[in-house]
Amino acid sequence: MKKEKFTYNYLIKIIKKAKNKKYKFISLKDYNKYKNKKKFLLRLDLDFYPKSLSGILEIAKKFKIPLTIYIRVAGPYNIFWYENYTIIKNAIDQGHTIGLHSNFIERAKLIKKSITKCIDDEITVLKKLFGNIITLAPHRDINYIENSLPWIEKNWSKIKKKHNFKFHAYEKKFFLNFEYINEGLNPHLCWRNITPETAMKKNKNIYMLIHPHWWFNKNPYEHY
Ligand SMILES: [Zn+2]
Repeated sequence: MKKEKFTYNYLIKIIKKAKNKKYKFISLKDYNKYKNKKKFLLRLDLDFYPKSLSGILEIAKKFKIPLTIYIRVAGPYNIFWYENYTIIKNAIDQGHTIGLHSNFIERAKLIKKSITKCIDDEITVLKKLFGNIITLAPHRDINYIENSLPWIEKNWSKIKKKHNFKFHAYEKKFFLNFEYINEGLNPHLCWRNITPETAMKKNKNIYMLIHPHWWFNKNPYEHY
């Protein structure tokens, strides 16, 4: 198979193929609905450059795809900055689900605060700006040893109740029932394991994570 660049046209090609193969695109929160359908979850982790979300929002609008988008509060962009705020607000107004994307374990260590305080502060800010937030997904910047996921798994019932979360992005149920597909640097940008085309060929339910800053219209530097 020809190696594709991560262009918007390629994303559209994947979406069209999935629709032709009768996949139903759903938000992560609806993973359990549509029992008799083949399902396609599309998750976005907004690690950098919130503006990079706009091209994908247009595609989602055109093809009526509900997205689940994880936003950083303690990351390298400022969600109060009007352009960033507006694009996230647009995503919410389009009906997409927004969640917290955080590396609070790493942050707690670096700034010498408690883990609970770090997560409480981030969720408070995100809720203050964008209303109810029902989900979170860990991000990592530097080191997998500081990955927040083991802590989330250990403390899930407690933080779920405290913050009214409905699910987190790495719950076992997603991995048992869906083929997980993501892109990343290995060392160059590629699909990490299986490609969406292969997963669709096998008629698997699909849980696909992409990072908007790696996807582009004309050139890979257009968001920078
Ligand atoms: Zn991330």
